[in-house]
Amino acid sequence: MRRRDFLGLAAAAGVGVATAGCADIPADAEPVIATNSPRHSPPPARTTASKPAPAPVRGNQLGVVPVLMHHRVVPDATGEYDMTPAFFRAELERLHREKYFPIRTIDLVRRNLSAVPAGRTPVVLTFDDGSPSQFAIDSAARVAPDCAVGIMLDFHAEHPDFPAVASFYVNRNPFGCTGRDADRALATLHTLGCEIGNHTMDHPNLRTLSDAQVRAQIGDLAGFVGRVVPRPRTFALPLGVRPRNRSTLVTGGSGSSRYRNEGVLLVGANPCPSPYHRDFDPMAIPRIRCSSRDGGTGQLELDHWLDRLARPGVRYVAASDRAGVGGGSGRPSAG
Ligand SMILES: [Zn+2]
Repeated sequence: MRRRDFLGLAAAAGVGVATAGCADIPADAEPVIATNSPRHSPPPARTTASKPAPAPVRGNQLGVVPVLMHHRVVPDATGEYDMTPAFFRAELERLHREKYFPIRTIDLVRRNLSAVPAGRTPVVLTFDDGSPSQFAIDSAARVAPDCAVGIMLDFHAEHPDFPAVASFYVNRNPFGCTGRDADRALATLHTLGCEIGNHTMDHPNLRTLSDAQVRAQIGDLAGFVGRVVPRPRTFALPLGVRPRNRSTLVTGGSGSSRYRNEGVLLVGANPCPSPYHRDFDPMAIPRIRCSSRDGGTGQLELDHWLDRLARPGVRYVAASDRAGVGGGSGRPSAG
């Protein structure tokens, strides 16, 4: 395997570093002009408005939101859920071109969509199973450019209006790491503004377990993550299979293993209703599969859905004036 070159964390400046996540996207800065130079003296003040106000965007707060499910991002995409780095870059290109804006699962379930610019559609990029192909760092916490996060950071550097944020659902050895390496990986990913979600300690079929075993699988992972970064608040079902007692998904555990999940992700297979739509169920969030089957030559399921979401009126669109959309009388009800 060739030696990896690593991106510095500095490359992520502007991603919404620190705890603010994707809600902290800086506006484009005005160029600084030195006022002590006679050649660059400030222009005289204008007496008329310099720019007309942008046309208001009406928005569509009841449209659907795509939540995308990824697993490994590897050059030799052989598994059903694999995708190649080239397909992942193409996915980012298309999402950006078609005016999507990445948020995290927790932002969706809390309806924290204020960072989504007017005219754009929130999209959640999720990654299951904590593969090293999703996130890898060196001893100086620099992100490998060929992992999914490295690709997102590169893309963000070229397209500052497309934040490099996503939600990662991990098990006991996140990104192939153990011990202090695992702690550093979790802390670095959190610092980049990404969400760490719960995918159980051992990735079991929860339907085969007792209630106590289900709670231990979820609570122990929550405690493991919570030693380093905030405890997970969203959960992805291993294998897409629910436990017999669904209440075990919501809360449980005690002491360091206590947990409370505000959102639960399914495996399949269609866009998610708007969080303002009556059909939205935060404990059953459907996802669109992203993979490049047949060694990277297969048709992406994502393309099928993005084609459908390109039709007028289907997808969520953020409004420039949040009052007066979704029916013309203020915010749509939670339903
Ligand atoms: Zn999984």
